[in-house]
Amino acid sequence: MSAMRIVIIGGVAGGASAAARARRLSETAEIVLIERGPHVSFANCGLPYHLGGEIAERDQLFLQTPESMARRARIDVRVLTEATQVDPLARTVTLRSLGDGRSSRERYDKLILAPGAAPIRPPLPGIDDPRIHTLRSVEDVDRLKELVDGGARSALVVGAGFIGIEVAENLVRRGLRTTLVEMQDQVLPPLDAEMAAPLHEALRRGGVDLRLSRRVAAFEPGERGLTARLEDGSVVAADLALLAIGVRPETALALSAGLRLGEGGGIAVNAHQQTSDPDIYACGDAVEVRDLVLDRPALIPLAGPANRQGRIAADHVFGRDSRFRGTQGTCIVRAFDRVAGMTGASEKALQRAGRSGGYDKVYIHPNQHAGYFPGAAPLALKLIFSRPEGRVLGAQVTGGEGVDKRIDVLAMAIQAGMTVFDLEEAELAYAPQFGSAKDAVNFAGFAAANVLRGDHRQVHAAEIGPASTGNGSPFLLDVRDPDETAAGTLPGAVVIPLCELRDRLDELPRDRAIAVYCKVGLRGYLAQRILSQNGFEAANLSGGTVTWRAHHGLPEPAPVPAVGVTS
Ligand code: FAD
Repeated sequence: MSAMRIVIIGGVAGGASAAARARRLSETAEIVLIERGPHVSFANCGLPYHLGGEIAERDQLFLQTPESMARRARIDVRVLTEATQVDPLARTVTLRSLGDGRSSRERYDKLILAPGAAPIRPPLPGIDDPRIHTLRSVEDVDRLKELVDGGARSALVVGAGFIGIEVAENLVRRGLRTTLVEMQDQVLPPLDAEMAAPLHEALRRGGVDLRLSRRVAAFEPGERGLTARLEDGSVVAADLALLAIGVRPETALALSAGLRLGEGGGIAVNAHQQTSDPDIYACGDAVEVRDLVLDRPALIPLAGPANRQGRIAADHVFGRDSRFRGTQGTCIVRAFDRVAGMTGASEKALQRAGRSGGYDKVYIHPNQHAGYFPGAAPLALKLIFSRPEGRVLGAQVTGGEGVDKRIDVLAMAIQAGMTVFDLEEAELAYAPQFGSAKDAVNFAGFAAANVLRGDHRQVHAAEIGPASTGNGSPFLLDVRDPDETAAGTLPGAVVIPLCELRDRLDELPRDRAIAVYCKVGLRGYLAQRILSQNGFEAANLSGGTVTWRAHHGLPEPAPVPAVGVTS
């Protein structure tokens, strides 16, 4: 019997994982890895940091080389070779050498497609200007780096998703005047707007000229570089531009093989990564995945799923029953001194999916580690959970240190189908420099479980507008201390510091709903407990004024010096 012949198209995250796993499972298989570019298994995710200099050596971007893969794993690696056509009946792939242009055919028993996704280039006037770049490969970063090293002084980045933010930060780091234009009114569109807001400040503080709710209409050659004309009539002149407005699955090969595509345009696969042809597998950014929380098809281009899917495809080729569970979109990004991470469903995704009625949310702002240990700083954590069961549906965290740990713990909670009641009981590592005896994750569980048990009645920022003092709006009660309220209150609020509340209940209405608030929601919750137990109809503003400001896009007021008043 002849050896199994596996041909893999695409030699980076999904393809290289599939090749390496296939070799670990079979010493006899013939494994051919086809890659259009000159490199395999490079660190796409590290590219922005090589541009900025944090990853100083270009060689550090290469996890493997064609030679090391051939030597270590006996994989027949063919770089600078493009797969142009698949014939599923003959089980052959047509290849074209990018060196000499010659075509050849490669026979396969099993084919694994891992061609990734290509950056979107919208058909705007002037889009073909050579100074407009995208970032996907090492050659792309080489070109950008050459311009920056060669003295480019200004840059325009279009699109404030993960790649746009990372590149903008690194261009500023290299001293370029950098404008970041985003058509939505927030950066990081997968996040809910109020959770992305802290990144706006971080980007601006870091030196990025962030322009939200703006679209590029056209590019024109400028005196030195190029000029982007925005739809609002303004112009941005820059020596170079980077388009980072999203990616589109590479499906040309799948279409040539007559494979089925999913409704979002990615290659349709089953849990074993098999396409509609059982001898052809597909993995990575090119495929449509199952959204683990919303249980519907989605395109979620991330490195972790691509690597795992490559491994699963190879497993199944060799008869193992490995299955991909679906993707929950766990991701994280740094913007200067701020970090934002998310996992699972956002609130807007739940609303888009028509599930507005089935969930609730809490906002908390716990420190990343014990408050008494130097360096304690608050996180902003939003937890979304199903009602009435309390299953964790999604989480978003922003802050500095410690965001990654909470997102990862909450990602596992979602994968394990846990509830907010499980989070209350989560036992996590604690010493004062790493966490708190009651960790942020426990706090999120306490807050959400209190809501579900009816102990914590909440009102959300959207229900209290920046000027809501009219008929029907709740009586607003501010329970912060005088040194805080001196800087201002929500419009029309009455101030009674928490410690005085029990003695001043007769100042409050019994015929009107009371919305009580503090800075981050904790004292407000304590006040709501006092009021509810004294017969008032009271609800606490979840996340306090910090979340309220983020929701309404208002900056934090400048700190007011403490006046030494105690209550
Ligand atoms: P790719 O890694 O893109 O590999 C596909 C390869 O297939 C390409 O090299 C391509 O040349 C080759 N190819 C395509 N068609 C053909 C053909 N016809 N013939 C031969 N070869 C072909 N994800 C994260 O989770 N975290 C991050 O921090 C992160 N940062 C990123 C930063 C940048 C700048 C970029 C570009 C991506 C980042 N990603 C990140 C996304 C992540 O890199 C991708 O999700 C992942 O690489 C997808 O793996 P893949 O194997 O599907 O595709």
